Amino acid sequence: YVFTMTVRTMQLLLKSVDFAARAHRDQRRKGPAREPYINHPIEVSRLIVECEPATAEDVLCAAILHDVIEDCGATHGEILACFNENIANIVLEVSDDKALPRDERKAMQIQMAPKLSNDAKLVRLADKIANVGAMLTDTPIGWDRSQILQYADWAENVVAPCRSVSQGLSDRFDAIIRDVRAWHAGEAERTGS
Ligand code: ZN
Repeated sequence: YVFTMTVRTMQLLLKSVDFAARAHRDQRRKGPAREPYINHPIEVSRLIVECEPATAEDVLCAAILHDVIEDCGATHGEILACFNENIANIVLEVSDDKALPRDERKAMQIQMAPKLSNDAKLVRLADKIANVGAMLTDTPIGWDRSQILQYADWAENVVAPCRSVSQGLSDRFDAIIRDVRAWHAGEAERTGS
């Protein structure tokens, strides 16, 4: 695939990285490495462009911005003003309603997944690859094995209706899920539980 990046694309992409980095400036990932939160949306957009190089720039920007409404209190209107309607809509689609209790939000993600646009499905799928991957590489502090396995099961349900948008991302998701379950089985054997 021959990809020619225009100056406009670079400007838009770096503008979204700048916006998200500032929005997430006081946040860290939940693992012991305490990585800056911005590493996560950067990983999500990288996964998309690696597996689906023809993805539109708006989707890559939305991937960079995908947690700024949910985690930083940014609004749809702010993203609309700084970027465009398409980007703002994708970010809104993948944002949980933080007013709902955690269990309800998780159930909503499964319920809403089939109704997402194809662009939002790409972001959703890559987001789950990054988050399930982090369960192995930088396990959230305080999470036990059964919580990790439950997270993997839940992520699989959210991802199921999103798989059709990318074979490459689906394959990566499956590989990560396999690794998590193999690790879990290995741990169970080691500890006899
Ligand atoms: Zn995310």
